[in-house]
Amino acid sequence: MAVIYVMAKEDYYKLLGVERNASDADIKKSYRSMAMKFHPDRNKDNPEAAEAKFKLVKEAYEVLSDPKKRTAYDQFGHAGVDGSMGGRGGGFTSESFSDVFGDVFGDIFGGSRQRSGPQRGSDIRYNLELTLEDAVSGTEAKIRVPVLVHCKECDGTGAKKGSSPVICSTCHGHGQVRMQQGFFSVQQTCPTCRGSGKQIKDPCAECRGDGRVQETKTLSAKIPAGVDTGDRIRLAGEGEAGERGAPAGDLYVQIHVKDHDIFTRDGANLYCDVPISFAAACLGDDISVPTLLGKVLLKIPPETQTGKLFRLRGKGVKPVRGGVVGDLICKVIIETPVNLTKEQKALIEQLNTSLTGDGKQHSPQESSWTAGVKSFFDKLTG
Ligand SMILES: [Zn+2]
Ligand SMILES: [Zn+2]
Repeated sequence: MAVIYVMAKEDYYKLLGVERNASDADIKKSYRSMAMKFHPDRNKDNPEAAEAKFKLVKEAYEVLSDPKKRTAYDQFGHAGVDGSMGGRGGGFTSESFSDVFGDVFGDIFGGSRQRSGPQRGSDIRYNLELTLEDAVSGTEAKIRVPVLVHCKECDGTGAKKGSSPVICSTCHGHGQVRMQQGFFSVQQTCPTCRGSGKQIKDPCAECRGDGRVQETKTLSAKIPAGVDTGDRIRLAGEGEAGERGAPAGDLYVQIHVKDHDIFTRDGANLYCDVPISFAAACLGDDISVPTLLGKVLLKIPPETQTGKLFRLRGKGVKPVRGGVVGDLICKVIIETPVNLTKEQKALIEQLNTSLTGDGKQHSPQESSWTAGVKSFFDKLTG
């Protein structure tokens, strides 16, 4: 990306207020004092102008503090470094002043931009499939997860066996460093030890100083009764181990309940179809229906229609978050007899004749359906 400057660029040495033969230390010192001078707290009347000015100073410092870039600049001037600056020369707008200052203090302590402190381990998600029975009654699930675990060789310290991490020389073990310059003070994570307060001179061979190794961990997870698809169970501290002594992440067991042959579930309620014979539907009967805790008798009253729902209170699921136990809702399906013998067919014929010949209403749905169809056609033709 080409950077176009309307005005001729000021000399980097001039910007930093140093001689052309200035030492690295002089350049750094001058840069620091410029940072103080242009800090927004000291330029309350015109912080934007101060920030703009400081960005130029920063650009100059980025070139002159880099031996390669400084040599190129000395030889070819701005033309020697503008390419290497890429878009940054003109793209300062996205940078906030605090980032700029973060860099200043990073530089003072000899570190580049780094994350702060040993990182906490990542959280891990494990997908667990359960049968409906296990989900409803609760279970103990064996879980095997490949995960970064605490390195046993070095006990998670990252230091070679027999050696131990030493107190960080930069922050003397505090993990934080404080910069005090006049009224202006900044505390930040120690860039040398990244907040741990310790330095590893001799890294552990097993984990290469990370304090963690990859392993397949076997866990036993207690799944409470009543869980459902979409529920998550958190096993605190069972996720990925943290870097060098940092806390571990959590393991989340994501529940997925498999489809069941008989029952479907909707929250605390269970649903099932109950096929009954034509005779039972006509005359009534006590039907044995399954529940998750064994069979129960369901009283089918005489003249029951297909599709009728029967509610068995408390035979559903006790919700995992507490509350009322759900119901089992049985839907009666009347089966048409099949594989009829000649005799049976004759009997049904006989029954049908009897039903149609006695002048009584035996088909409540059919009559209302017929009436509905008639009014539908009346509307169409009328
Ligand atoms: Zn180790
Ligand atoms: Zn430190």
